[in-house]
Amino acid sequence: MHRGTRAVAHWQENSACRREDPELFFPIGDTGPSLAQIEDAKTVCRECVVVEPCLQWALASQETHGIWGATTEAERRRLRRAAIRTTAPA
Ligand code: SF4
Repeated sequence: MHRGTRAVAHWQENSACRREDPELFFPIGDTGPSLAQIEDAKTVCRECVVVEPCLQWALASQETHGIWGATTEAERRRLRRAAIRTTAPA
C-alpha cells in the first residue's frame, strides 16, 4: 500500500511500498518514459510479501489508478474482463 493513499488494511502493514516514494506507483501514462517507472514499481511489488492480497484488493475495489500488486490499470482491466468471461454462463 502506497503511503498516504488510503486507510491501511491489515495486510498493508507488511507492504514493500511503505518504504518507497508513493509517486513511483502513479506513473502519468503507460508509454515512453513512464515505462521505466512502471517497471521500477513492479520490481518493488515483485519483492513484496503481500503482492497477492494487494492485487486481489485492487481488483475487488476496482482501483483505477496506479500500480497495485505488480499490475497497471490496463492489466487489471484485462484481468477483470477475463474473470467475467470465465464466470459468465455459456
Ligand atoms: S504489491 Fe506493490 S503496491 Fe501492493 S503492497 Fe506490495 S509493493 Fe505495495
